[in-house]
Amino acid sequence: MNEVITEKEMTKMKKTILKNHEENELDICSAYGVTRNDIMTGVRCENCHYIPMKRIYASWLCIKCNTSSKYAHLNAILDYFLLIDKHITNRELRNFIHLSSRTTAYKLLKEFQMNGERKSAFYCKPGQ
Ligand SMILES: [Zn+2]
Repeated sequence: MNEVITEKEMTKMKKTILKNHEENELDICSAYGVTRNDIMTGVRCENCHYIPMKRIYASWLCIKCNTSSKYAHLNAILDYFLLIDKHITNRELRNFIHLSSRTTAYKLLKEFQMNGERKSAFYCKPGQ
């Protein structure tokens, strides 16, 4: 398995992405005539762009090129915010990135800002 990006680099990148992600984003879907059903769900491999990566232990594994990544879901979540909705629930995340575990989804969403409580909680990009 080849780790494309080191954990340290990814943390740095992640912060930059979260900080700089378009504040006044236009509605990309309507701009491109894309409907929600056209959007491919699943975590994308950073190396070969294959979708979906598989969740194995605490990482995402690409079954095509064997790349593993701990943070590949972050891009998927940011895509979701950009293309689908400004916030996401635990259930929506599980559907979107093909996860069955609510607990895993909860852990993955820790980077994001939580609003609401328990079952009605939803998550946004920090600062929104
Ligand atoms: Zn791959």
